[in-house]
Amino acid sequence: MNPILTYTIDETDRVISTNSEWDSFAKQSDAADLEYSVHGKSIWSFIGAEKLKNLYFQLFEGVRATQKAVDINFRCDNAQVMKFMNMSIEPEPNNYLKISTCLLREISRKKALAREVFYLGLKNGTPMCSNCNRVYPHETVGWIEVDKALSSKLISEKLNVTFEICESCIEYFDKTINKLKKGD
Ligand SMILES: [Zn+2]
Repeated sequence: MNPILTYTIDETDRVISTNSEWDSFAKQSDAADLEYSVHGKSIWSFIGAEKLKNLYFQLFEGVRATQKAVDINFRCDNAQVMKFMNMSIEPEPNNYLKISTCLLREISRKKALAREVFYLGLKNGTPMCSNCNRVYPHETVGWIEVDKALSSKLISEKLNVTFEICESCIEYFDKTINKLKKGD
């Protein structure tokens, strides 16, 4: 029920090994173009939003510099379920990092979303946070859950999204990075 996906990246952030859970993950996932083979690829080729890349980059560098593990929560929703995930980043010899992600809990949506909501990452779409999966229909409502935005008719099911990162996730990453650097 709660498989842990782990992979190891080398000092240049290339994926060098994955555990056996990856095969079943690839088969179960409804991401249309999910890469079955991630070996040898840069971890950065899997993260779309530039700001999020930068925050993960700082986390990875922090773990390498302090040789301390760190944990971060994120969402990996799909059209049917909201998935609350955790990622742990642990130092390994030679500046390698072991990255493990696990599902903390999942909540089925009352109504499944059209697939397009999640898989059309377009320019000039409605902003969606890559980390918490909330959307930003307009400034008066701010960042809200997709289901709420849909039921309040603030977005349509055929929504086009542009991946970004929201202010509270930036703050969450910054706090985690600072805590790691301070050695708490
Ligand atoms: Zn967010």
